[in-house]
Amino acid sequence: MQYDVLIVGAGSAGLSAALTLGRCLRRVLLADGGPPRNESSPGVHGFLTRDGIRPAELLRLGHEQLRPYDSVEVQCLEIKRITREGRGFRATGVGTADDAPHTIWARRVLLATGVADILPPLPGFRELWGRGVLHCPYCHGWEVRGQPLAVYGQGRTVTGLALLVSRWSADVVVLTDGAGHLTPNARRRLRRHKIQIREERISRLVGSAANDLQHVEFADGSRLARVALFLHAPQHQRSALAEMLEARHTSKGAVWVNSELETSIRGLYAAGDTTPGTQQALLAAAAGNKAAICINESLTREECPR
Ligand SMILES: Cc1cc2nc3c(=O)[nH]c(=O)nc-3n(C[C@H](O)[C@H](O)[C@H](O)COP(=O)(O)OP(=O)(O)OC[C@H]3O[C@@H](n4cnc5c(N)ncnc54)[C@H](O)[C@@H]3O)c2cc1C
Repeated sequence: MQYDVLIVGAGSAGLSAALTLGRCLRRVLLADGGPPRNESSPGVHGFLTRDGIRPAELLRLGHEQLRPYDSVEVQCLEIKRITREGRGFRATGVGTADDAPHTIWARRVLLATGVADILPPLPGFRELWGRGVLHCPYCHGWEVRGQPLAVYGQGRTVTGLALLVSRWSADVVVLTDGAGHLTPNARRRLRRHKIQIREERISRLVGSAANDLQHVEFADGSRLARVALFLHAPQHQRSALAEMLEARHTSKGAVWVNSELETSIRGLYAAGDTTPGTQQALLAAAAGNKAAICINESLTREECPR
């Protein structure tokens, strides 16, 4: 199958790119490999006109609005491998519903494959992720404002996040789960903002049936009642496709892109969480839109040589 553009990933970035490329009458395959990063969250916040919408509903609307654009094909497909072929790319994948193999040829590829968060291996973190365990106060701070909050982590990362979170609540406790590696200056700054520090080992997080946090349990059996815990979790790329193609990555593991959202591999573009910068659904959608425009202009230059 031959396409102008293969878009890998149907989250905010991929769907938005597909919409713009459909409006350019481009022949597009959107490979939808599964759920988005925020699948476990009850609501997407801060998305203009859609504040609080369920993540699945946001994507459903995105798919629905692709329907009028006949040149856009959506397939439940996980792309496993991409290689350069001629002036384009050959991709192979498998259907996520039927395991059927697919081979695709496309002139350009957009990676909109997102990232995955690596949570501490303690009981409760994975289970409460997106409800009682939160990654970002811009996304969820308002929902837990004024309530007892915890911030988990060590060193500079936890200090910065705790100071940020203290904007939403005056009752913030830093939990370092062992040695906190906090400098005297960090301790002073936290103290100045009335943020307590607890360096005991944590044994688990206990939540309600709805996955809200109820309390943090320490190794000695003592408990701390909290309604939510924030942390900056390390991340990894959801897909190794950019790495397979030997595209440049930043020191933090993001796929490097230039101002046109093209990676270090000609014709291979990337947008959304997979690239460096602030990670928000609206920004991912905006990046998908921009990548689509850059791709369409690059295809137009190829079709209309000087
Ligand atoms: C718990 C949680 C809550 C959040 N809440 C908010 C919020 O309230 N507001 C906000 O703005 N942001 C929020 N975010 C951030 C937001 O989820 C991301 O910024 C946004 O999802 C990024 O969109 P994306 O399209 O880049 O990636 P994603 O939405 O993660 O989409 C990537 C897609 O690519 C697919 N994929 C990966 N590899 C392949 C492959 N090989 N083949 C085919 N498909 C593939 C994945 O299955 C996925 O569907 C939250 C994040 C988390 C973790």
